[in-house]
Amino acid sequence: MAMIAGWLISCFAGITQTPTSQPGYQHFKIDKVDVTALSDGTVPVSANQLLHAKEQAGVSELLGEAYLTDPVEVSINAYLIRNGNKLILIDAGAGALFGPTHGGKLISNLEAAGFSPDQVTDILITHIHLDHSGGLSLNGIRQFPNAMVHVNAKEIAFWKEHQTPQATESRGITDNRPAFEALKPYQDAGKVVLFANNTILFDGIRTKEVVGHTPGHTVFVLQSEKEKLVFWGDLIHIEAVQFHRPEIDNEFDVDKEKAAAQRQTSYEEASAKGYLVAADHISFPGIGRVKKDGAGYRWLPLAYSLLSRTR
Ligand SMILES: [Zn+2]
Repeated sequence: MAMIAGWLISCFAGITQTPTSQPGYQHFKIDKVDVTALSDGTVPVSANQLLHAKEQAGVSELLGEAYLTDPVEVSINAYLIRNGNKLILIDAGAGALFGPTHGGKLISNLEAAGFSPDQVTDILITHIHLDHSGGLSLNGIRQFPNAMVHVNAKEIAFWKEHQTPQATESRGITDNRPAFEALKPYQDAGKVVLFANNTILFDGIRTKEVVGHTPGHTVFVLQSEKEKLVFWGDLIHIEAVQFHRPEIDNEFDVDKEKAAAQRQTSYEEASAKGYLVAADHISFPGIGRVKKDGAGYRWLPLAYSLLSRTR
């Protein structure tokens, strides 16, 4: 009996340790515009280390209430918009920068969804961090050979200043330098376009700066007829904690106070207006709405639909 029990345990242990293949794309429509959520995979994140709660105990309690244990398996999402003759990718995942086990699934999921990397015409980057721009290149080779990459000019200015490592720099800068290097092949090929705040990049798509997490952190607003979707980038990392406690900031926020204020304002606006949000680290596909709930907020995931419905 003990032997069988031991065998079962090792079997289950084997099963839980084997990475499972999961569907990594989901289509939906924002009125006339087709959008596809794409998974770059997941990465284990210690919420207690990442989040800077003034009362740290709150983090574990909130995880427990959501039946989660630390480290949390955090999604890395990207999004594809088909807009006329443009195929626009929002963020590019981590590529190889989180190692062989985590992330790096964006291209296989893009292909599974029916597209190839060379069809992507434009890539909009919310900010230059490993899990958002890291997937642009692999060993100095552009992974999206025909795409123009659009980045906030403030992000590029910041990284030009921090191109050379300094002894006094923060971990956020040291750790994310390869994310800037992943842009280089596009810069060398003349394929980087800089944008400013409130710029209309394409029909129905504009930029909105939400500076705090990084110096040029930008969300993208897609409006088609009456429906609106805002791509949040890194406004939130751990949904089980930060919807209840928007004031809890993050190890990698360049300006922690500003980042928390941006999160609070963004929740408030999304909740008041009822528009859809797509967030890179909310559980895949990371699409839903936000609702005010007492002193905090609640996440309402988009209902699964074979008809690409959003309502
Ligand atoms: Zn991120």
